[in-house]
Amino acid sequence: MPHEVNHMNELHRLIEMVQTIEVGLVVLDRDYKVQLWNGFMENHSGISPHDLRDRDLFACFPELSADWLKKKMKVVFTLKNRAFISWEQRPYIFRFKNYRPITGQAEFMYQNVTLFPLSALTGEVTHLCMIIYDVTDVAINKLQLKEANAELAELSQTDGLTKLYNRRHWQDLLNREFERFARYQEQASLVMLDIDFFKSINDKYGHLVGDRAIQHLAAMINDSLRETDIAGRYGGEEFGIVLPKTDADSAAQFAERLRQKVEQSPMQLDKKTIGFTISAGICMLDEDINQNSDWVRRADAALYQAKESGRNNVQVYSRGKDDA
Ligand code: GH3
Ligand code: MG
Ligand code: MG
Repeated sequence: MPHEVNHMNELHRLIEMVQTIEVGLVVLDRDYKVQLWNGFMENHSGISPHDLRDRDLFACFPELSADWLKKKMKVVFTLKNRAFISWEQRPYIFRFKNYRPITGQAEFMYQNVTLFPLSALTGEVTHLCMIIYDVTDVAINKLQLKEANAELAELSQTDGLTKLYNRRHWQDLLNREFERFARYQEQASLVMLDIDFFKSINDKYGHLVGDRAIQHLAAMINDSLRETDIAGRYGGEEFGIVLPKTDADSAAQFAERLRQKVEQSPMQLDKKTIGFTISAGICMLDEDINQNSDWVRRADAALYQAKESGRNNVQVYSRGKDDA
C-alpha cells in the first residue's frame, strides 16, 4: 500500500473518531472563529459545523458569558497554558438540554471544560481547543449527597416530636450565647418552662395524648419566637428558650404572654377539650454566673419556685432562690 493512502486512512480514522467521540470538541482561531465543531456539539446544539464554520463563536451563542470566557481564552493564548473550568464554578458553558433518563432531575447538562492552546510548527499559538465533558451524572450525585448531608445534619439537631432543637444542639447554642456574654457582655436571658401536672394528662388520657400536648405547647412556643430566639426540648415536657439581647423584665413579659396563651388555648382532640398550664423560671446572665451550667441551674431554680408557689406562673431568679 502506498505510503500516502496509509496516511489518508489514518487521517480518516482520526476525523471519524473526533466526530463520534462522546465529548465536545471545538477549535477556534485567535478571532474566536469556529474551525472545528464535532458531532457531539452538533447533536447537543442542533447546529451543524457547516453553519458555524469561520463564524465568531460569541456572535453565534449570545448566551455565553463572552467577557468572562474571552478573558480565560486570552490567558490560554498568551501564556500557552491549559485552563480548566469545573461545573462547580459554573454548571455549564454551553446551555445544552439534559436528555439523560437517569439524571432526569437536571434540566441542563453539567459540563467540565478544558481549554488548551494549539501551536503551529513555528511554535506560535494560532488556535485554541475546547473540550466539553458531560458530567451531569457526577454533578447530580454530588448535589444529592450534599442535600442528604444537610438533611441529616438538620435531623441530628432536631427533636422528632416537636421539631424544636433537641437538647444536645440547644445546649451547644446556649453555650455559644454564654460565650458571647463572657467575651462581649452581650445581654441574654434564659427561660425554662414545664407543663403543670403533666403526669395527670398521661394518666387520664394516655401517653399519646400526652405527646399531643407536648406538640401543642411546642407549636405555641414556636409561634412566639423572634428570629434570634433559641428554643429546645430540654426533657419530656420541659423546654428551654434562650432570648439573646433580652433583660430579665422583657424575658418575664415574654414568658407571661406565653403562659397566658397556653392557659387560654386548650387542645381540641376527638370532641374533647384538654387544657393545661405551664410554669416558667427566668434567669438573666450576669457577672457572677461563671459557667453555662449555672445559668441553666438558676433558671431551673426559678422554675422550681414557680411550681412551689402554686404553678401556672412565672418567676425570675433572684439570689436565695438558688438551691444549688
Ligand atoms: P409538675 O407540675 O410538678 O411539673 O408535675 P408533672 O406531673 O408535670 O411532673 P413532671 O414534670 O416531673 O412529669 C414529667 C412526666 O412526663 C413524667 C413522664 O412520665 C412524662 N413524660 C416524659 N416524657 C414524655 C413524653 O415524651 N411523652 C409523654 N406522653 N410523657 C412524657
Ligand atoms: Mg411537669
Ligand atoms: Mg417535667
